[in-house]
Amino acid sequence: MKNRYAVFGHPIKHSKSPLIHRAFAEQTLQTMSYEAQDVPADQFETAVKDFFNHGGKGLNCTIPLKELACLKADILSHRAQAAKAVNTLALQEDGMIFGDNTDGIGLVRDLTINHGILLDNARILILGAGGACRGIIRPLMDHHPQSLFIANRTASKAVALAEEFSGLIDIKGCSFDQLSGRQFDLIINATAASLSNDLPPLPAGLLADNGNCYDLAYANEPTPFVQWGKINNAGKSLDGLGMLVEQAAEAFFIWRGVKPDTQPVITRLRNAHAMT
Ligand code: NDP
Repeated sequence: MKNRYAVFGHPIKHSKSPLIHRAFAEQTLQTMSYEAQDVPADQFETAVKDFFNHGGKGLNCTIPLKELACLKADILSHRAQAAKAVNTLALQEDGMIFGDNTDGIGLVRDLTINHGILLDNARILILGAGGACRGIIRPLMDHHPQSLFIANRTASKAVALAEEFSGLIDIKGCSFDQLSGRQFDLIINATAASLSNDLPPLPAGLLADNGNCYDLAYANEPTPFVQWGKINNAGKSLDGLGMLVEQAAEAFFIWRGVKPDTQPVITRLRNAHAMT
């Protein structure tokens, strides 16, 4: 029987994970299957048990299941502990379930390896203080930025999140208003605003000369934040499609011990995007 893998989420219909993991499997000659399964939060516990009892080897978990997956794991990686959320579950030989969060490393690889953006000594601003923001803070910190600001619509959430990581780096939380007069080398949009074609209210002059913009969201057309970056003369203004493929590649490596080549898969998705 083929080793089974899947992504659980709700909704899940538009997930690109099956396409990505099947492409990785084909490329690396792995015999495995990968399906998408619609799993609402109240069915998560039963669905996970059923999956691992019937040949399941590894799962991706997406919205709204990442926190539940974190509770389900018997062992957590350091980055999953920092994120308090899990997007990858892997069944170990001894029957224990290992939980990891590959979102942050996916973002960092897309920024640094695919796009040559330096994080070392950079002044970084993250917009948003939800699950995605929490998942990327630690991996960004590992690259020794000069400072990290988190700005959020609900400022108290940004302040609380910054406090959790304080002492490790120069990190502050604030409202969007409080960004006035500051400048950043890299602005990362981790809000869900792009999903409703919206843009957080950003003051003028926020992006330093040759600064870069990165939207975790991706869409067929440039997102409002990617457009904002271009209007504000960003060196690069990128969406999160590369991060999506890179986080998947890290999950694939955890499961199969093989690192797929991400570039052809990113190109394939971009081309498929362009045609839809
Ligand atoms: P959450 O629901 O956990 O957090 C949403 C955040 O967005 C909150 O900080 C919220 O602010 C803010 N927000 C929502 N709407 C607006 C708006 N109109 N204006 C300003 N702020 C807004 O979502 P996630 O953190 O899980 O996801 C955030 C984004 O990251 C999504 O677009 C998601 O698709 C993307 N993502 C991409 C990945 C990839 O691989 N490329 C991986 C993971 C996530 P408040 O606290 O005030 O409500």
